[in-house]
Amino acid sequence: FDWSKKITSEDKLKKVILLRYGEIHLKGKNRGSFENALLRNIESAIFSVDEDAKVARIGGRYVVYNFNEANLERLMDKCSKVFGLVSLSVAFEIESDVENIKTTLKELISQDNALATAKTFKIDVKRADKKFPIQSTEFAAMLGGVVLDEYPHLKVDLKTPEIQIDVDIRENGKTYIFKDKIKGVGGLPVGTSGNVLVMLSGGIDSPVACYLMAKRGVKISAVHFHSYPYTSKQAKDKVIELANEVKDYCGGFDLYCVSFTKIQEEIHKNCKEGYMITIMRRIMMRICEKLCKKYGYQAVVTGENLGQVASQTIESMTSTESVLQSVPVFRPVLAFDKIEIIKIAKQIGTFNTSILPYEDCCTVFLPKNPLIKPKIELVEQEEAKLDIDTLVDEAIANLEIIKI
Ligand code: ATP
Ligand code: MG
Repeated sequence: FDWSKKITSEDKLKKVILLRYGEIHLKGKNRGSFENALLRNIESAIFSVDEDAKVARIGGRYVVYNFNEANLERLMDKCSKVFGLVSLSVAFEIESDVENIKTTLKELISQDNALATAKTFKIDVKRADKKFPIQSTEFAAMLGGVVLDEYPHLKVDLKTPEIQIDVDIRENGKTYIFKDKIKGVGGLPVGTSGNVLVMLSGGIDSPVACYLMAKRGVKISAVHFHSYPYTSKQAKDKVIELANEVKDYCGGFDLYCVSFTKIQEEIHKNCKEGYMITIMRRIMMRICEKLCKKYGYQAVVTGENLGQVASQTIESMTSTESVLQSVPVFRPVLAFDKIEIIKIAKQIGTFNTSILPYEDCCTVFLPKNPLIKPKIELVEQEEAKLDIDTLVDEAIANLEIIKI
């Protein structure tokens, strides 16, 4: 955004970030909680970059101001990851006054390389403030004249202009002038749709599951099972790294690190080999359910994907899930193709970390022939050889909570 580089030391021309959200879908009661959650999330996003930055709500928009110019790009990046926002712009804020807007526009467009080399342009005026004396189309034509005075070679093209300049006249008595709109991530503000516990492995799928749940407004926390010393310290660090990578989208959260070593050893020692994975996953689920109860999560989320590996058949999922009594399991990537999941992982920046080659606890004691369609009665017979309640309680008692 070349305009954003313009220095605006003068008081009358304030550089701000204008944030837009999809207000059309908002009705009645939901609106307040949507807007409040969004405000809080924007605040924590911008404060992580610039403690002096401020955000104000102005009908239908948020405005970020009072930041250090040097932080502008990082602030834009953070805001572009806040769910609920549909687009953002670096804008100049001025008093809504006809002459003021005209002279400011003239100032802004002077020596503009993009306008000098373009063939077509358009001025788009939005007049939310009905007290502003000139109607939007008429005012757009007037401002178009200001541009044409400076760049007489340009033609107005209302349908597909090469350059569009937006003039947004808001009800707070201010007008926002900007040239570019950057797409936001959309979705719903995190914190408006409940909270869940995501099972975070070091793989590609579960970080994407975190992102997709957060996108629907869900606050996530995560649990990771490790088998240290069978799995390395790097394997755990990798998961912490992944958690930090989804943090921009999901907000800060607790990562519960649970040692699964003793449980795996017990299963290995006592149960038939083919049942290893099924029993492991059922015990993981039991631990998750207890964590949900203890810390107030409403559901367990996994990165399971139908048909991807032996343990991801409907039968396996049925047998894993059947140990749960009080919470559902959500699988946001269940029906995605691997290519689609990878595309999201790359877009959100977790892919390169996910493919680091550290062992996951699921690959320790991996049976040669895992059961693809485990029969519940037989699984239960094998589980009866273990003192599951004690193993689960011990695992939870020794849990480590990492603040992300
Ligand atoms: P991912 O890419 O997320 O690792 P995957 O395709 O490797 O998934 P599995 O290893 O079968 O599949 O795991 C399926 C899901 O189970 C994971 O997406 C994750 O939600 C959960 N899971 C597996 N291993 C662990 C672990 N060590 N800690 C926490 N959750 C796990
Ligand atoms: Mg995995």
